[in-house]
Amino acid sequence: MPRDFYEVLGVSRDAAGPEIKKAYRKAALKFHPDRNPDDPSAEAKFKEASEAYEVLSDDAKRKIYDQYGHEGLRGQGYEPHFQDMGDIFSAFSGIFGDLFGGGGGGFGGGGRRGPRKGQDLELRLEVPFMEAIQGVKQEVEVMRHAHCESCGGTGAKAGASAKTCTTCGGQGVVIQAQGFLRIRTACPSCRGEGKVIEPADRCPACAGSGRVRKAERLKVTLPAGMDNGMQLRLAGKGEAGEPGAQPGDLYVTLRVQPHELFKRQGDDTFVELPVPYALMALGGDIQVPTVHGEETLAVPRGTPSGKVFRLSNKGAPRVNSPGRRGDHHVQLVVDVPKKLSAEEEELLRKLSDIQGHPSQEPGFWRKLFGG
Ligand SMILES: [Zn+2]
Ligand SMILES: [Zn+2]
Repeated sequence: MPRDFYEVLGVSRDAAGPEIKKAYRKAALKFHPDRNPDDPSAEAKFKEASEAYEVLSDDAKRKIYDQYGHEGLRGQGYEPHFQDMGDIFSAFSGIFGDLFGGGGGGFGGGGRRGPRKGQDLELRLEVPFMEAIQGVKQEVEVMRHAHCESCGGTGAKAGASAKTCTTCGGQGVVIQAQGFLRIRTACPSCRGEGKVIEPADRCPACAGSGRVRKAERLKVTLPAGMDNGMQLRLAGKGEAGEPGAQPGDLYVTLRVQPHELFKRQGDDTFVELPVPYALMALGGDIQVPTVHGEETLAVPRGTPSGKVFRLSNKGAPRVNSPGRRGDHHVQLVVDVPKKLSAEEEELLRKLSDIQGHPSQEPGFWRKLFGG
């Protein structure tokens, strides 16, 4: 089990963003592998602090972590996992840039960094209540950086290719001395890639970046039973990475529109139905709506207003548990008519005369409670 992230950074649970950043910078300086060549545990501590920072510096991830802990992050695909030092430096290049004054990015204990993975994208999708219950295929449009098709993502025009960087001799890193630190910095000429494309050799469609920004239509399949706030991860559908790197992922966050009849709480669904007084008193079968169609409900004789009947396994489908559903709750309330026909009026007056209740007489409650 990973350690508590707040404990790792030594901050309180309500620490604000700048405080968390400060704590991480402190830990990064302390455990940086270049400063701890004789301590093999430094790299692990550096990694641990980086993972804590990744989660606590991101409002959405931090909220999930605060509520559900490490399990919750795993469930949402947010569990931080850095393969190596290069991963960490590219994720937080901004911080390390101003920390060490490095040339705008990755530097590393592990030598040259690899090409950068594409960024994750997030998309909000609003769907009607019943579509979320039943599941639906939806087309969405995302603006994303995709691989340039003209050059196949290499960034070089036809017939040309990238040449070995002369600044770093293809190593991707240069060594800078800074005070007592010897810092390996990503090569500023090739941005750590070890290769450069001469301006004349650049692909005209993407200006040498290997990526173009374009709108793309994607099919999103929502499994039956998805609820408000749930998130789907579409692997590889985020921004394209640098040539040779993995693309990021696309996260689709769902907003479910309210329904005029049904309410929902987790996998359970709810409906409130007005029923005539006579039926509640005498009992009988009625048809009740569920999210899966009508069901017959046997109302027992003498059912009080407000009584809730539970129809098991008639609620929302459980996402990821095919065939299993929550329960449906039907609340029956006495339907008091605003208008009466002459015949109804006559019958009700007769009933009232027969029933006659002592509470109609002044002094009844006083007698009862001695007030
Ligand atoms: Zn291109
Ligand atoms: Zn270079």
